[in-house]
Amino acid sequence: MTNLLQLQELLNIPKDITITSHRNPDGDAIGSSLALYHFLIKNGHHVKVIFPSEYPAFVAWMPGADKILIHDIEPDDCEAALKNSDFIFCLDYNSLSRVDKMGDYIESLEEKELVMIDHHLYPDIQSDYIYTKPEASSTCEMIYDFIHMLGKPLDIDIDIAEAILTGILTDTGSFKYNTTSHLFKVVAGLIEIGADDYKVQDLIFNSMNEKQLRLLGHCLTNRMEIIDEYKTGIIALTRKDYEFYDIQRGDTEGIVNFLLKMKHIKTAAFITEQPTVVKLSLRSKGDISVQEIATKHFKGGGHKNASGGYSFSGLRATVKKFKEILPEFKEMLTSE
Ligand code: 5GP
Ligand code: MN
Repeated sequence: MTNLLQLQELLNIPKDITITSHRNPDGDAIGSSLALYHFLIKNGHHVKVIFPSEYPAFVAWMPGADKILIHDIEPDDCEAALKNSDFIFCLDYNSLSRVDKMGDYIESLEEKELVMIDHHLYPDIQSDYIYTKPEASSTCEMIYDFIHMLGKPLDIDIDIAEAILTGILTDTGSFKYNTTSHLFKVVAGLIEIGADDYKVQDLIFNSMNEKQLRLLGHCLTNRMEIIDEYKTGIIALTRKDYEFYDIQRGDTEGIVNFLLKMKHIKTAAFITEQPTVVKLSLRSKGDISVQEIATKHFKGGGHKNASGGYSFSGLRATVKKFKEILPEFKEMLTSE
């Protein structure tokens, strides 16, 4: 991490700190934010957590979740917190464009000290304090290491450990991808502290309601298209689907991964018609880089095997475009 010693010294004195994470916060965004929140509070700081948009229901059980401010709902309180803070932590994102209006506001605060902790490729935030590690499974894994780097491992209590475990479990798909020996050592450390992995998994993964499960059935039965030639699966959801199933944020979490359950499918696209944009969620197996596809054609990015992007050209046109660009990546898509 850049300027760690300087940051360590500055954090010895109580500060006003705002922790931010990305739009549509996932388990890693909220886990890393709340883990750092509890740690900084323990160290005497005044801390607020703010997200651009609401978090999904499956993380609402986490201690501290009820105190999170949402910029879409309370922009003035969020901007006041940002304005009054000595440090703004940017967790689980590496470009201010990922936090929309909140990013514009942060950018307008010229004197602000930003601390970026993130595991995505190609960081694009100007800051004196940057900890970036694309090979890390999750930002949560990095928060565990960050607390150790500050020399405070004993501050990690059960709440912090379970918040960290949440992001690790969601970003690795329960240890299916991005695992390293270091990650398993981190997890061993969390379990030794007392984190209850069974409880956390149950809270996160067995929290669907009937509507969500029926929506999954609808996606697989009526909205799935398989393109054998490119070993690719697509699920596209219309605005009408959103209305009929009353789809809320988080309801579609994880649906894209079902496409990869087919042995011969190596690339998956979940394409949804949102109020103002069409959003793409891309996943792949092995050496196929959906990050390349998202960056080149859909103004997006992310990781090699999990990326996203968006388009303003409508659902049908976006699905059509996605299919039309597949030949360009034929070698990569069919190599496995
Ligand atoms: P998801 O499909 O779960 O929304 O996102 C998967 C990954 O792709 C995440 O790591 C996220 O950071 C990245 N991602 C999703 N949407 C976008 C986007 O619009 N722009 C960029 N740069 N990355 C995205
Ligand atoms: Mn992450």
